[in-house]
Amino acid sequence: MKITQASNVLLLAGLASSCLLPEERAGGSIRRSLNRRQGNSGKAIGKGDRFNSGNSFPRGIGSGNATDMTTILTVSEVTTGLQGLVKEYGIETFTTPYKTYEGRTITGAKVGGSGAYHIYLNGAIHARERGSHDSVLYFISDLLYAQKHGTGLTYGKKTYTNADVLKALSTGIVVTPLINPDGVNYDQTTNSCWRKNRNPKSSNGNANSIGIDLNRNFDFAWDPKKWASSVANEVASSSPSSEVYRGTAAFSEPETQNMKYILDTYTKVRWFIDLHSYAGDVLYSWGSDTDQTTQPYKNFLNSTYDSIRGITSDSTTTRYGEYISAEDLNNIKTAGTRFGNAMSTSTGRTYTVMQSAYLYPTSGASDDYAFSRHVADPTKNKVYSYTVEFGFGNNQASCPFYPTDAQYTSNLQETNAGFIEFLLAAADIGLE
Ligand SMILES: [Zn+2]
Repeated sequence: MKITQASNVLLLAGLASSCLLPEERAGGSIRRSLNRRQGNSGKAIGKGDRFNSGNSFPRGIGSGNATDMTTILTVSEVTTGLQGLVKEYGIETFTTPYKTYEGRTITGAKVGGSGAYHIYLNGAIHARERGSHDSVLYFISDLLYAQKHGTGLTYGKKTYTNADVLKALSTGIVVTPLINPDGVNYDQTTNSCWRKNRNPKSSNGNANSIGIDLNRNFDFAWDPKKWASSVANEVASSSPSSEVYRGTAAFSEPETQNMKYILDTYTKVRWFIDLHSYAGDVLYSWGSDTDQTTQPYKNFLNSTYDSIRGITSDSTTTRYGEYISAEDLNNIKTAGTRFGNAMSTSTGRTYTVMQSAYLYPTSGASDDYAFSRHVADPTKNKVYSYTVEFGFGNNQASCPFYPTDAQYTSNLQETNAGFIEFLLAAADIGLE
C-alpha cells in the first residue's frame, strides 16, 4: 500500500513489532527476560541432514517443493545444501575469511551473471528470525532448477516465466544465506528467542549480556556522538545487555567484517537485500533520518548536524534530513515497491513499502552501511540497499519470530516472489 510521509508517524503506532519486540526498543537498560512467554516453539527445527552431505540438493517452493520442508533448515544444512547445489548445477561457493567466536565459517555462493555480480542477498543476521536462511537458499535453488529444466516458477498467485528466471539470473547474485551461525545454532538448540551473535567479550561473565547486535555494528554513524542526545541510546545501545548493543567498535565482529568483505570483493554489487522478520515491510534507505533531496551537505558525514541527527519529526529544511538524490530515491522506491507488491500478491498478505527511518532510526545497520559506502568513498560502487521484514509474527509461540508451519510456507512464497521481482526490477533500472 502507498502511504504518505505524514501518515507514517501515525502508522508507526500500529506497528507492533519489527525485528525488535516492543520492550526491546527503549533505551540502553533493556534486559532480556529469561522468563519467556508460555507457548510452543513454532515449526520444528531439522534433525540430521536432509541433503545427505551434499549428495542431494535443495529444491525450492516455486519449482515443485521437492525438498522435505517439514522442518526448518539447521546451520549445517545450509552448507550441505549449497554443496548439493554445487554438485547438481556446478555453481561456485566460497568461505568468508573471518571465523565466528565459536569458530564457524560462513559459506556463500555465486549464481548467474556473466562474470560480474550485481546483487547481494544476505540472510539470518538476527538469529531468531526463523525462515530467513531457508528463504535465501531455496530461492537460488529454484532459479537454478528452473534454468536447468527450462521451466518457470510459481509462488502462490505470482507466476514467473522461464524468460523471467533467465533475466533474474543474468543479474549475477552473491548470497550468504546465514551470516550469524553461532546465534542461529544457539537459538535453534535452546529456543531462547536469541537475536545477537554469541561473542561474550563484553558480557563480564553475565550470560544475559552475551552477544552484539550485528545490525548495529556496521560503520555507519556507529558512534553515539553522531546522534541527537534524545535518540543516541535508541538508535543502538552501549549496554551489553541490550538487544541492540552496538559492540565496542564499528566492525568489531567477524560476521559484520564478513559482510564488508563481500562488498569489498564483489565491487560491482549495485543492489543489496538484508532479510529479516517480522513486520511485513520493505524498508529502503535511509534509516538514520528523514530522506531529503535538496541539501547534499546534510549527510551522515557532516558533524555540524550531529546534535540533531535521528529526529524524524523535525523539518528537513531548517533542521536535518539525510540526503539522497532524487534519482536515487526514485530508483530505490521503484524497486522496493515492486518487491513489496510481489510479496503482497503472492499470498494476499499486505506488505508496506517505506523508508527505514520511519520504522525507527538506527545506527550501524547493514543497509545504511552498504548505501553509504559510495558517499564516504566515491571510488566505491553505489549499492541500493533494503531491509526486508517478512512475515507478521506468531502470537501463539514462546517467541513471536518462530513461524507456524503455515506461516513458514507463506513467508517462503512471499520472500521468493519478492526476490525474483526485485531482480527483474534491478535489471530494468540498471546494474551498472
Ligand atoms: Zn532482524
